[in-house]
Amino acid sequence: MSSAKNSVKTKTRKRYYRKRIELFRLIDKIKLWPSRTGVLHGIKTIEKKGNIAIITTHCNKTFEVNNSRNSRAARLLRNKIFNKVCGTCKIPEWKLEKFDATRFSRKSGSFLNQTNA
Ligand SMILES: [Zn+2]
Repeated sequence: MSSAKNSVKTKTRKRYYRKRIELFRLIDKIKLWPSRTGVLHGIKTIEKKGNIAIITTHCNKTFEVNNSRNSRAARLLRNKIFNKVCGTCKIPEWKLEKFDATRFSRKSGSFLNQTNA
């Protein structure tokens, strides 16, 4: 009489997301990037090359980032720490509002779970 939940165990990647989400998944979804100086930029393109991604912002800054769960950027995005929004990137209001409404749960998964809701 075991439940189906317990009996289904696949070796494939699990589909839930935790707080320590990979940086790439995070920026894929929110398309925002916090700079070292606390400016929030909009991401135009993300070009993934293995564990490195080349990010281009709307203000035409290009840089490489590592796919780290513990990176500065991932932490800043999760905690929504930024001083101001880049004027050149012109991040639309709805995107900022969506970002502001984003919740990162300590218990189970992040806002990425809610995208299909
Ligand atoms: Zn910018």
